Amino acid sequence: MTTDDTNVSTLRHFIDGECVAGESNRFGDVYNPATGKVRAQVPFATAGEVDKAVRAAKVAFPGWAATPPSQRARILFRYRDLVEAHRDELARICSSEHGKTLDDARGSVTRGIEIVEFACGIPQLLKGELNENVASRVDSFNVRQPLGVCVGITPFNFPAMVPMWMYPIALACGNTFVLKPSEKDPSCGLRLAELAVEAGVPPGVLNVVNGDKEAVDALLTHEDVAAVSFVGSTPIAEYVHRTATAAGKRVQALGGAKNHLVVMPDADMDQVTDALVGSAYGSAGERCMAVAVAVAVGDEVADDLVDRLKPRVESLKIGPYDASGIEMGPLVTREHRDKVRGYVDTGVEEGATLVVDGRDATVEGHEDGFFIGGCIFDHVKPDMRIYKEEIFGPVLSVVRANDYEEAVELVNDHELGNGAAIFTRDGDAARDFTHRVRIGMVGVNVPIPVPTAYHSFGGWKRSLFGDHHMHGPEGVRFFTRMKTVTSRWPSGIREGAAFNFRRSTEA
Ligand code: NAD
Repeated sequence: MTTDDTNVSTLRHFIDGECVAGESNRFGDVYNPATGKVRAQVPFATAGEVDKAVRAAKVAFPGWAATPPSQRARILFRYRDLVEAHRDELARICSSEHGKTLDDARGSVTRGIEIVEFACGIPQLLKGELNENVASRVDSFNVRQPLGVCVGITPFNFPAMVPMWMYPIALACGNTFVLKPSEKDPSCGLRLAELAVEAGVPPGVLNVVNGDKEAVDALLTHEDVAAVSFVGSTPIAEYVHRTATAAGKRVQALGGAKNHLVVMPDADMDQVTDALVGSAYGSAGERCMAVAVAVAVGDEVADDLVDRLKPRVESLKIGPYDASGIEMGPLVTREHRDKVRGYVDTGVEEGATLVVDGRDATVEGHEDGFFIGGCIFDHVKPDMRIYKEEIFGPVLSVVRANDYEEAVELVNDHELGNGAAIFTRDGDAARDFTHRVRIGMVGVNVPIPVPTAYHSFGGWKRSLFGDHHMHGPEGVRFFTRMKTVTSRWPSGIREGAAFNFRRSTEA
């Protein structure tokens, strides 16, 4: 796979253990966002090509489901080592198509590896429960069994980590999988699938089809698909959930975010400033757990916060992913950069105070890259679009709340509920906050409270459609279904036919 801008490669699909060329003659451009140049072309699959991938997964399913869980885990142990050995290569692929710094990309691959490590221990979670003698000479036990062919549709912002939230768990539970990565940065998904086969995952167990809406729609409605895992923006998450549940699939669809960080008057302001600079501007704000809103409790806190943030944001080091000392890369595409700029224009029109304006930031030697500098708005009000909508860029809104109650109300009234944090030294306020906020992932003096692999990841409200969070125990529940067996072995004693429910002790 080439990463040379001067050499535009044509990507493929990965079906039944092999790279296959696209047949549709429809392609999308994959950019190096730092240079603004096309680095690859990605084929967009037709419904027929999607069908080939689903069929391969369907054929592979019985053998993989019958493979003892410990044997599947042994393959995943090898996979874990292989991904670790290729961590830098994967990070480089990720950065070159997404734009994020190499250190950040390495960290995200490590997060993915942690999910594989969790998946290696899944045999322990597949154990059922057994009750002897639920009735006279009757035993009852339950088991968790795989679903069949599962599908993952993933966003651009974590091209390695988010797919790895899904397929390692699905595979460890005995399912087979078809991944449809983001068309903006599809190469990580392809490389991860190649490594899986190298580790011993049989052909057909993990497939990758590239594409756009046509491929997604074909996956959502395919009769042989049992379950759909989706991560992306809220409108598409809602669409995916609606379409796939109507077609009878089990669905978990994670959507967008507008994460608030509440700054209490007793907070350690050095800690708050570091936390906000890292969480609002890291990965150029293209994280579903990025902090987009700082809620300052009291004008004094707000004034102090803005004074501290301003010089830090003005001096953010922006540049290409492989330059040293870079803190923030470009946005993923020109369209996305223009959309973020548009939101900053809107904020100005709406009357918010633009304290730092990064709209025209450029990087010497990379004038065509999709760069934008960090921006801060103060005096943002809840009825403004820049407050209500997800911007997904390096734009922080400071909202001033009169007191703690008003801050909690803001968090709870927002339609999105992915993450929120409170910074305080007061245990009472922290406990009250964690208890009362209608948010899926909550931090106390932790700005990006991303659950680790053996916990589960997911939001509330319009940040999640469906019942299950990703990975951890919730992931195992999502990718398995329960069966309960009640058995009696002939004992030679006949009891006659039973026409009524009996008490269990008489069954
Ligand atoms: P997106 O919704 O545009 O795309 C996500 C996936 O859906 C892609 O694979 C894309 O090809 C597909 N898709 C796009 N439009 C479609 C359509 N009309 N019909 C069918 N499929 C379609 O999201 P994105 O821009 O790639 O990613 C950024 C978004 O993802 C942000 O909103 C971010 O908050 C969200 N996100 C959420 C989480 C979370 O855990 N909640 C994690 C990461 C990203």
